[in-house]
Amino acid sequence: MSKHDYTPNPRFTDLFPDISGNAVNGLGETGYRKPSPFFWHPHDKQTHGELQAAVIDYHRQSPEMCEVFTPRADRGPKPAGQAPVRIKKSPEEWAAAVKEFALAHESDLIGITPMKDEYIYEGYELNDPTVIILGVAMDYQELNQAPASFENPAAGVEVGRQYNTASRACRNLANYILEQGYYAKAWPGPYASALSMMPAAIDAGIGELGKHGSLINGTYGSSFRLSAVTTDMPLACDNFQDIAAEDFCANCQVCVNACPPGAIFTEKQWVRGVKKWYVDFDKCIPYFGDTLACGICLARCPWSKPGTAPKLTEKMMGRRAVKSGG
Ligand code: SF4
Ligand code: SF4
Repeated sequence: MSKHDYTPNPRFTDLFPDISGNAVNGLGETGYRKPSPFFWHPHDKQTHGELQAAVIDYHRQSPEMCEVFTPRADRGPKPAGQAPVRIKKSPEEWAAAVKEFALAHESDLIGITPMKDEYIYEGYELNDPTVIILGVAMDYQELNQAPASFENPAAGVEVGRQYNTASRACRNLANYILEQGYYAKAWPGPYASALSMMPAAIDAGIGELGKHGSLINGTYGSSFRLSAVTTDMPLACDNFQDIAAEDFCANCQVCVNACPPGAIFTEKQWVRGVKKWYVDFDKCIPYFGDTLACGICLARCPWSKPGTAPKLTEKMMGRRAVKSGG
C-alpha cells in the first residue's frame, strides 16, 4: 500500500511561483482552451521557469545524467534541404513508405493524424496539416530501477538515452520526407515549443491516456518515449486504438499507491474542457526533481512489464465483448 510519506524538498518548493502548476494546466476548467506553454518550454516562456531550471541543474549534478542529456549526445542529423520536385504517390503509399522508413530507423511505434488546434500551445502558430508521432521503447530493466538516485541513476539515464534515440528517429524521418520534396519539421523531446505531442499521439493510435497521466500502448505499456514530425506530405491517417486500458485503469490503483508524493488522482478531472486522468503537478514535481526524473508510475504500471500489454489488451477487449453480449 501507499506510504505517500514524501515530504517536499524546499530546494524546489521555495521556487514555486504564486500560481499553481495545476492552474496553468487548466485543472478544474470545464471549457476548452489551448494548452499553455509549461514545463519543458524555455525558462522565460512559462510561469515555472525558475523551478524548471533548478530541477535541471540538480539532475546535472549526476555525471551519468549530465552525460546523457548533454548537447553533445547523438540526437540526429541537421535538417536536409527540401528537394525541388515533389515525388507523387497516393496518401496510402506515402504512409506505408514513411512507416517503413521510420521503423527501420530507430522508431518502434508510428502513427499519423491530422493537425488539430488542441495540439498547438497557446501563443504559437503551426500550419502544418499532418502530425506523425514516433515512439521509442525504453529498456524496461533500466526503467524498472526507478526511482533514480545519485547512487543508481539508471532509470533517469534510460529516459535521457531514449529521448536521444527518439530525436534521431524524428530528424532522420524529417530528412527522408524533405528528400521526397515535401516540407517536414522534426520535434524531438523532452523540450517542447509549439507542438503538444500527447493528444496527437492518442489520436494517432499510439496509446490511451492512463491514470498516471502518461500513455499506455498495446505493446510497450508506458515504457516508451515520443517524438514527432509535422509535414505537408499527403499521408493516410490512423485512428485512435482502443486497447481497453481505460477499463483496466478504472479498477487499478497500482500507480496511485506507488507514487510517493500521492500525486495521482483516483478520479478523472476536468482539464480545459475534457474530463480525463490527471496528475497533480505541484505534488509530482518536487519528487520528480529529487529522484532524477522519478518514473515510478511508468515502471510499476502492469502494462509496462515486457510481454504483458498484448495479453492485457486481449483480456480486457474480451471482457468488454462479453459485457456487451458480443
Ligand atoms: S513521476 Fe513519480 S512523483 Fe510523478 S506521478 Fe509518477 S510516480 Fe508520482
Ligand atoms: S498502474 Fe494501473 S491505474 Fe495506473 S496507469 Fe497503469 S493500469 Fe492504469
